[in-house]
Amino acid sequence: MTTITWIGLGHMGNPMSANLVRAGHEVRGHDVSADAMAAARDQGVQTFDSMEEALQGAEVVFTMLPKGEHARAVYLGDTGVIALAPKSALLVDSSTIDVETALELHRAAREAGFRFVDAPVSGGISGAAAGTLTFMVGGEADDVAAASACIEPMARKIVATGEAGTGQSAKIVNNMMLFICLEACAEGSVLADRLGLDPKVFWDIASVSSGNSWALQTWYPVPGIVDSAAANNNFEATFSATLAAKDAGLALMAGEQTGVRLPAAELVAERLQQLIEEGYGDKDCSLITKYAAPDGKI
Ligand code: NAD
Repeated sequence: MTTITWIGLGHMGNPMSANLVRAGHEVRGHDVSADAMAAARDQGVQTFDSMEEALQGAEVVFTMLPKGEHARAVYLGDTGVIALAPKSALLVDSSTIDVETALELHRAAREAGFRFVDAPVSGGISGAAAGTLTFMVGGEADDVAAASACIEPMARKIVATGEAGTGQSAKIVNNMMLFICLEACAEGSVLADRLGLDPKVFWDIASVSSGNSWALQTWYPVPGIVDSAAANNNFEATFSATLAAKDAGLALMAGEQTGVRLPAAELVAERLQQLIEEGYGDKDCSLITKYAAPDGKI
């Protein structure tokens, strides 16, 4: 049994930390949201109002936070993880954040004598609940190996991506491809409907044909086709438009830095931004489907 501190108990952090509890670890959780803490308690996580208390005795610290700015706030400064955690703790950031912030956290952790890995994940909340996430882990080989032992109950696949920050690089490119596939599902589902196809009949064809993708299998944006799709639940977020726009923006930033043109990613980023501007930032990113429909009706 390992004593694990988990900071950020949201859509992903909740089911991921629950899998560590089920694996027999002591999990000490903290979140700024009282609702998130209550939901984590229901899963057997011990919760603490202060991060300092949650970090007591930590052998491993996981963070699962929305954006780079949250990761900076949690790790850095006098009241951050690097100031408060036991020096022997292994630090694992599973948030999806920009590479620059990830490298800053690596540097700050190393200077303070900690081991740190960037370890973002893919697989959505369904993969988090099932313990079948893909982890992309960047950092020193020994630290990646040590983190992998703890990650194992949450993962189907753990990939050592290389040096510090490469986990985030892999995740940013992966998500850019996901959003482009989601846009394909959005446009495809609306066009199939307007051509008079039964949505289930069309999905059955695409899912065993060349139109298949993770987005089609998991997020298909038509109610009643795929169990895990937000479309079944009035587009309540499984992955919010705000977080998706953040990830699409990270890809565009990487494209600018490397001189790579990304017109398809630009289009999806615009649609996600439009959702936010119209007040749907907390809804699921698959709601971009409404922009494919001429009358906005899905
Ligand atoms: P979320 O917003 O549901 O959860 C984030 C949690 O962090 C919230 O509960 C929030 O209250 C908490 N938090 C914010 N600031 C904090 C602080 N200073 N101290 C403690 N807690 C704090 O987001 P999520 O969907 O769980 O995503 C988390 C990360 O994982 C994001 O970077 C996201 O891009 C990535 N991700 C999400 C999915 C998905 O399908 N939802 C899949 C893979 C990766």
